Amino acid sequence: MANVNILYAKPVAESFYSKAKKRISILAEKGITPGLAAILVGENPASLSYIKSKVRIFKELNLKTRIYKFHKSVDEAELLNKINEINNDSSLHGILVQLPLPKKINSEEIIHSINPNKDVDGFHPFNAGLLSIGRPGFIPCTPKGIMELLRYYKIDMIGKSVVVLGRSNIVGRPISILTSLDEKFSNATTTLCHSKSKDIVNFTLNADVIIIALGIPMFLKSDMVKNNCVIIDVGINRVDDENKKGYRIVGDADFSSLVNKVSAISPVPGGVGPMTIAMLVDNTIESAEKIL
Ligand code: NAP
Repeated sequence: MANVNILYAKPVAESFYSKAKKRISILAEKGITPGLAAILVGENPASLSYIKSKVRIFKELNLKTRIYKFHKSVDEAELLNKINEINNDSSLHGILVQLPLPKKINSEEIIHSINPNKDVDGFHPFNAGLLSIGRPGFIPCTPKGIMELLRYYKIDMIGKSVVVLGRSNIVGRPISILTSLDEKFSNATTTLCHSKSKDIVNFTLNADVIIIALGIPMFLKSDMVKNNCVIIDVGINRVDDENKKGYRIVGDADFSSLVNKVSAISPVPGGVGPMTIAMLVDNTIESAEKIL
């Protein structure tokens, strides 16, 4: 593990937050406090914990947050009404709907009702479309955070073979687009794998950079990668443990076996997760800056 670079988010996030504070004070001079509205439905423990972490950071930065909690039996019309109200509230610059929503709710319809100018999660088709044509508006926070992590640690993508495992609209697909854009630090040759891909190891063994977002604990093992590749582990999985909590968090990559073989790897926790929150702050400030 002598030369391996552990891609901790902490220094990247600290550097980002110190710049963010300056942007926030410029806005404050104009009487603007960036504000985020978060919609939470039901009592999913992971969702509650994500919202708590996001709110804590927003509060530390003296940003405004408004949490709208709904019982899991809420109907779509009520959620659409609330989003419409927030769309028209000039003191709130960003709207996030914590996913997943209960199955009976049409998540697409809810996301589509968000004003694209307040879509700080970057999930609205308008922003997804802009990203796909290489003219990003709001970029989804996790992929944006991964790019920031790579940039900070000077891991450029130019001409590299990047393999993305997982094609969700919130992580896999947007990061496959970002890594292959014709931009500084991008310009990779990116392959996007999913559950129907055949012989995934054939791709991972030839990859310079692997970005894994499957939701399968410790899927990626050291015999699936080449020496000195870079691993970005997006996975957040709870596995049983004998500790007090009864569980621990692990990624989609088997960190302890990979760390002796790769040139760089992001840890879980402490890698991509904190970057996601930092980029939510970034997008919310950016939204407020647009009205200056
Ligand atoms: P998701 O929507 O469930 O998508 C999972 C993807 O993995 C799908 O594209 C699926 O393929 C693919 N897949 C599943 N099994 C596979 C297999 N055996 N081989 C190849 N591909 C397979 O997941 P997500 O929302 O992107 O989240 C992925 C992980 O990242 C989760 O652990 C989640 O908690 C974590 N996450 C972390 C952050 C963060 O801030 N760090 C943010 C978001 C998500 P199909 O499309 O063919 O079904």
